[in-house]
Amino acid sequence: MTLPAHLSIPDFVEWGMQAFTTTRAAGTYGTQGVEPAVEVFARWNTLVAGVTALGCDRFASASQVHGQKFTVHARGWSGWLRTDAVDGHAWARRGTAAAVTIADCVPVFIGHPSGAGAILHSGWRGTAAGITEQAILWFLRAGFAPPSLRIHLGPAICGSCYEVSPDVFTQLTGASVPGNTTVDLRAAIADRARGAGVRDIAISEWCTRCSNDRLFSHRAGDAGRQLGVLISIA
Ligand SMILES: [Zn+2]
Repeated sequence: MTLPAHLSIPDFVEWGMQAFTTTRAAGTYGTQGVEPAVEVFARWNTLVAGVTALGCDRFASASQVHGQKFTVHARGWSGWLRTDAVDGHAWARRGTAAAVTIADCVPVFIGHPSGAGAILHSGWRGTAAGITEQAILWFLRAGFAPPSLRIHLGPAICGSCYEVSPDVFTQLTGASVPGNTTVDLRAAIADRARGAGVRDIAISEWCTRCSNDRLFSHRAGDAGRQLGVLISIA
């Protein structure tokens, strides 16, 4: 079983965790797009089979709402779980994998040497609402201190491509500007994560809009969605 076309994120390999984002070549995983649902779900099923072949007995995804909530996956289920109205997943047990759908928003990968992990979908709303800081707080409460965590901010719209209103800029940075301006969403998330005590933070070089030939970008007009996937291999 092979994984779909993807950009590998090697940051967590030493901890037995595999991270990647799919690319345009893998096709869209968005269930709200124009492609027939049967083709989209076939892609999902192939991915779940690939994750299972890597030794995971459970895989989580969700319908996302640009909010601050994420699901903590405790024991007691296996297979493919699709939850409603959350923008991320966190877990302490190996054998767990999860995906978020993205196309400009940031896939936030969080890992711990134990195999505990989280993956979040963080656009400006989720960033302003503090979804990453709340995930870091969950890790802390679960016994995984922020300095022991590693964060990778995956392919997303870059600071040159992402123009926002003054209101959004203020919500993201706390600063005021007179008119529309560009903002670096991943830098804003990194600042917040550092503020929550995480020191080991990497930012992908990939911009979804600059590299629109390889990645789906909402701002570039794509209806397609790629996935960010984090796998804690059993
Ligand atoms: Zn760009």
